[in-house]
Amino acid sequence: MKIAVVGGGISGLSVAYNLAVRNAGEIHLFEKNWIMYGSSTRSGARFRVHFWTRENSRFAIESIKTLEKLSSKIEWNPIIYRGGYLWLLTDEQQIERFKETNKMWSDLGVPGVLFEQDRIKERYPYLNLDDVLGGFYGPQDGSFHHDYVCLGYYSLAKDLGVVFHELTTVNEIVVENNRVKQVKTSNGLIDVDVVVLTSGAWTNNLLNAIGIVLPTEPLRKEVCLTEPYHHFIDPLIIDMGSGAYVGQTLKGEILGSIDYPTPPGLIDLETRLGFVISWVKAVTRRIPILRNARLMRTWAGYYMMSADSSHIMGRDPEWPEGLYVAYGYSGHGFMMAPLVGELLAEHILTGRIDELMEPFLPTRFKENKLIQEKLVIG
Ligand SMILES: Cc1cc2nc3c(=O)[nH]c(=O)nc-3n(C[C@H](O)[C@H](O)[C@H](O)COP(=O)(O)OP(=O)(O)OC[C@H]3O[C@@H](n4cnc5c(N)ncnc54)[C@H](O)[C@@H]3O)c2cc1C
Repeated sequence: MKIAVVGGGISGLSVAYNLAVRNAGEIHLFEKNWIMYGSSTRSGARFRVHFWTRENSRFAIESIKTLEKLSSKIEWNPIIYRGGYLWLLTDEQQIERFKETNKMWSDLGVPGVLFEQDRIKERYPYLNLDDVLGGFYGPQDGSFHHDYVCLGYYSLAKDLGVVFHELTTVNEIVVENNRVKQVKTSNGLIDVDVVVLTSGAWTNNLLNAIGIVLPTEPLRKEVCLTEPYHHFIDPLIIDMGSGAYVGQTLKGEILGSIDYPTPPGLIDLETRLGFVISWVKAVTRRIPILRNARLMRTWAGYYMMSADSSHIMGRDPEWPEGLYVAYGYSGHGFMMAPLVGELLAEHILTGRIDELMEPFLPTRFKENKLIQEKLVIG
C-alpha cells in the first residue's frame, strides 16, 4: 500500500509510526510547515483520565497506558509526572456532578477524591479559597513532555522508513471511481491507496473540497508562561469559578490559560492583552503569592472542536475508499493520540473497529449518537 498521512503533529506522527511498525507499506507524511508546527507543541502538555463521559474516560485510560509504555519503545523520555488535577468547585451543582461521576470513575478503576474546603487549605496553603466550596482531586492525572513524545515518534518512524516531506502542503485529494487516487502537493502529484487526514485545525479545507462536511471548527486558545520559580504547585489547578487553569512545569514556570471570548475559525494566532489581564487577575486572586511573578511569554494555538467535544477517528463507509481521519480532538488530543494511532493503524490494515474506537467514528453525527462530553479545560 502507498499511504499519505497529512499533518506532522502528534496525531500524524502516531499514525505514521503505528502503520510503519506494522509494515503497512510505503508511508509518506506531508507537513506544510515543519514537524510539530501546529497545536501539538503549543499544548499545556497535561493528561487526565477524568472526563464526564465513559467513552472518553476509557479511551484516555488506555491512551495514557500507551503513552507510559512508549518510553521503552522510543529512545526519548516523555517525562511523565503524575502531579494530579485539582478542580476547585464554587457551587453545589459542580460538587454534585463530580460526586455522581466519581461513581463511574471508581467503576473504571480511577476514583478521585472529593475534598472539603479545609482539606484543600491544609494541602495547598497557597490557595485563596474565599468562594470555593470544595474540590475534586484526580491523582491519576499529570503531565508529559510534548516535544519528546513527538520527537520520539518522529525518529522511530524515520528509522522504520517513513518518508517525511516537510514544507510540503497537500492541496487536494484526487478521487476517482469513489477511491482516493492521488494527493496533489505543493511539490507535485503522488499516487496513493490510502489518505489519512491528521491535519488538525486545517482538516476541513481538504474534506470540504471533496464534499465532506463534519461538525467541527477551530477555536484559538492562548497561553501564558512565567519565569521559572521554586516548584510548589504540584497539581494542575482548574478553577471552575473563573474558567482559568494554572499549573507549574517541572522546570518551575507557571503556565495556564483562561476561557476568553474568541470568534471561531482559523483566525490569526496572536495573543491579546485582554486575555493576559484576564488570566493574571484570575490566577493572582486564587494564588496571591503569584502577584509579583514575571510573565516570560505567551502563545496561541487552535483547539479543533467537534460538535460533541470528542475526537473523530476512522471513516464513513460512504466516503471515497481509502480515506480516513483523526482530528477534532477538542483541546485534549495530545493525550488521546497515542491510542488513536494504534487503533487507526489496525483499522486501516484489517478493517477491525476496536470497541474503544467505535463511539468516535465520524458516522456518529449523522446517526445522532453524540458523546456529550462537556469537560473541556481552557
Ligand atoms: C493552548 C492549547 C493547550 C492544549 N493543552 C493540551 C493538553 O494539556 N493536553 C492535551 O492532550 N491536549 C492539549 N491541547 C490539544 C492538543 O494540542 C491537540 O489536540 C493536538 O495537538 C492535536 O494534534 P494534531 O496532530 O491533530 O494537530 P496539530 O498538532 O495541529 O498538527 C496538524 C499539522 O497539520 C499540518 N497541516 C495542516 N494542513 C496541512 C496540509 N494541507 N498539508 C500538509 N500539512 C498540513 C499543520 O501544519 C500542523 O502541523 C491543547 C491545545 C492548545 C491549543
